[in-house]
Amino acid sequence: MLGAGFGGLELSSLLSEAVGDEVEVTLIDRTDAFVFGFSKLDVMFGRTTPEEVRLDYADVAKPGVRLVKETVTAIDPEARRVTTDAGAYEADVLVIALGADYDMDATPGLAEGGNEFYSEAGAERLAGVIPEFSEGHALIGVSDAPFKCPPAPSECALLLHDALTARGVRDACRISFVLPLPSPVPPSPETSAALLKEFDERGIDFIPGRRVGSIDAERSVALLDDDTELAFDLFLGVPKHRAPDVVIESGITEGGYVPVDPATLRTRFEGVYAIGDVATAGVPKAGVFAEGAARVVARHLVAELGRGEEPGPYDGRGSCYIEFGEGRVGRVDIDFLSGPEKTGTFNPPSTELTAEKQEFGTSRRARWFGG
Ligand SMILES: Cc1cc2nc3c(=O)[nH]c(=O)nc-3n(C[C@H](O)[C@H](O)[C@H](O)COP(=O)(O)OP(=O)(O)OC[C@H]3O[C@@H](n4cnc5c(N)ncnc54)[C@H](O)[C@@H]3O)c2cc1C
Repeated sequence: MLGAGFGGLELSSLLSEAVGDEVEVTLIDRTDAFVFGFSKLDVMFGRTTPEEVRLDYADVAKPGVRLVKETVTAIDPEARRVTTDAGAYEADVLVIALGADYDMDATPGLAEGGNEFYSEAGAERLAGVIPEFSEGHALIGVSDAPFKCPPAPSECALLLHDALTARGVRDACRISFVLPLPSPVPPSPETSAALLKEFDERGIDFIPGRRVGSIDAERSVALLDDDTELAFDLFLGVPKHRAPDVVIESGITEGGYVPVDPATLRTRFEGVYAIGDVATAGVPKAGVFAEGAARVVARHLVAELGRGEEPGPYDGRGSCYIEFGEGRVGRVDIDFLSGPEKTGTFNPPSTELTAEKQEFGTSRRARWFGG
């Protein structure tokens, strides 16, 4: 299994519980620790530290699962052979769960002049930059879609408003938000309307349907895809995403991601599955969908061993929590595959949902890392 993120951790946990006495799962990841996507916003706005949010892979102790810290350097999907910086593996079943990488070169100037907040390093860096920003124009800009966790840039705008308000400098600052999508959360008009209302009340300028094409770091200007120039004093960016290079080089991708049968997460290669952000399964790129896909693949593999029922098709359902600022958390319940239409049901912010988001993180931490 390649990648110990949301998808890989969920799948290996489920296989360990169900058939850990019978299978050998090798889970390969290049890093030492897992970090929830939403923790990056917490780090960036100084609500916690980078150390606090790192969940150490050394704590993963699951029967039948061996987690190795290696970098995958080549994948041969036909032979189900994986090469890493430390050796090679042959598998009966290969699951690619390597997530999405950031294509910094796709937005010239972003690496030099911008501050992206989608990586751990970017969020940590911004934790030092945001407290220094006290006047001028803050621009939150997304380079392209699809990108992870579609509500996250909206959350960033609202949390920035809070941070500036708390320091008493909001009146000296302008916040704008450029998004390639027509609305903040397109599958849920109600969620979008609620976020637009919040932007309006807080004086956040929302610029939909535009991409950030490049950043002129010297002039501190963002160039949008309609040739508009937006000058900024602080840029908070979301880079273009794509599958990791090693996946693209394996010849298994189309249009930047791994095509799969959305019902089964199978690729066109026998015994090879792709789950989560690396795959095109017709669902948004978010941890909850990687988890849901992992559940379907786990149940299928367990059924193949004669230890359970064959699962129904992947339903593409998942709930995403949304920070509305001032400690308020809402939720959107997405259903992309189970019915004839994509739906997104909005649950307005409430104290119950704030607690539920906490529980979401705590329960995964316990399930994947123990303790
Ligand atoms: C700011 C932000 C907020 C978010 N908020 C939410 C949220 O509230 N809810 C939600 O559900 N999702 C959220 N997400 C999205 C979520 O983090 C991702 O969609 C999710 O992690 C995808 O899971 P995955 O298993 O596909 O990939 P990942 O979790 O990204 O895991 C991929 C793993 O592969 C490893 N890897 C990559 N390349 C290699 C290689 N060559 N060799 C070895 N290992 C490699 C990586 O180290 C990584 O551990 C957010 C993301 C961001 C950035």
